Amino acid sequence: MYEKWSENNIEKTNNMEVKKINRNRIFRLIYKNEKLSQQEIASRLGMSLPTVGQNLKILQNEGLITEDGVFESTGGRKARAISFIKDAKLAMGLDITKNHLSLVLVDLSGEILKSTRVSKVFENTPDYLKEIGVLVNRFIDDSYIDKSKVLGVGIAVPGILSDDKQMVVDSHALGLVDSNGPDFTKNISYPCFLSNDANAAGFAELWNTETVKNAVYLSLSNSVGGSILLDNQLYSGDNQRSSEFGHMTIELNGRTCYCGKRGCLDAYCSAFVLSNSADGSLPEFFNLLKKGGKKQEEIWKEYLSYLAVAINNLRMLFDCNVILGGYVGGYMEEYLDELRILAAERNTFEPDGSYLKVCRYKKEAAAVGAALLHIERFLSQV
Ligand SMILES: [Zn+2]
Repeated sequence: MYEKWSENNIEKTNNMEVKKINRNRIFRLIYKNEKLSQQEIASRLGMSLPTVGQNLKILQNEGLITEDGVFESTGGRKARAISFIKDAKLAMGLDITKNHLSLVLVDLSGEILKSTRVSKVFENTPDYLKEIGVLVNRFIDDSYIDKSKVLGVGIAVPGILSDDKQMVVDSHALGLVDSNGPDFTKNISYPCFLSNDANAAGFAELWNTETVKNAVYLSLSNSVGGSILLDNQLYSGDNQRSSEFGHMTIELNGRTCYCGKRGCLDAYCSAFVLSNSADGSLPEFFNLLKKGGKKQEEIWKEYLSYLAVAINNLRMLFDCNVILGGYVGGYMEEYLDELRILAAERNTFEPDGSYLKVCRYKKEAAAVGAALLHIERFLSQV
């Protein structure tokens, strides 16, 4: 008797699973296309019209899809167009840096609905953590959104995380070395994920791109970092320390890096290398460079030459696109051709540097990527 019940139960579970998988496939197809008819969904997924119809009803009741006009027809009844509701769910991203906190709100499509950046110097104190909670709540309140739509808060931190991704175990930028780190999620009343900031930014760059599977993201901010995406998955390494590109040795016995070693890429290609010549302001550096400032031209020339070496090394290692991001990446569009030539000059196999790209999120990429991790998880579970 018991076994029979058990078998039935397994069958029930399997049916449930199949139904859920079908529903997920239907939703993801609608998500990837602007508008689709029920017939088109059925034919593209090889499902029957009633199966698609039942699932559409459920998705509509859950507030995830809507009827959005009709398709023109050559005869007979016009087919109803179905699309997903972009703001059916939302996610927040919080980027923690040494001197700032950035907050973004994104919808299911990854569009940024709101963003803000506040000056706040990091302190490993309960007051700082309290302030984070206050800021998150204020940000949500000021957005006038239905709070139940918020999937959670993705927190990007400039450091190495524990294996379970709950703690920062090492962050030179925040002065947390060999520590258990503070609990950044403590005063946030939404589900939270922690991610490394450069990993999150790299994730944002490749999110929802169909054609690119592998990429290296090189983040050029006040510290240099990055991420490696292989087959659309972040590669973390054995110790969560992969893609610490800032500490690749680029010059034997070169400049001293903030890590204490000599010749690290960070000492040559961090945003500080540029902004230090312009009162600490990166926009001002590029302003002076455009105006033909001799000092800035000299610094920029050297900067690009070291950057080209690093880029070529990454290309040799990974044989995939290299995407430039971070503070400096946001300015790189107009210097891209020059940099491609410099990188190509070093390349053993390729005559051009077309593999080199600039980031699509010019600002707040880390916060956006951290938020998108929540969106991605939701999409995989619909
Ligand atoms: Zn270093």
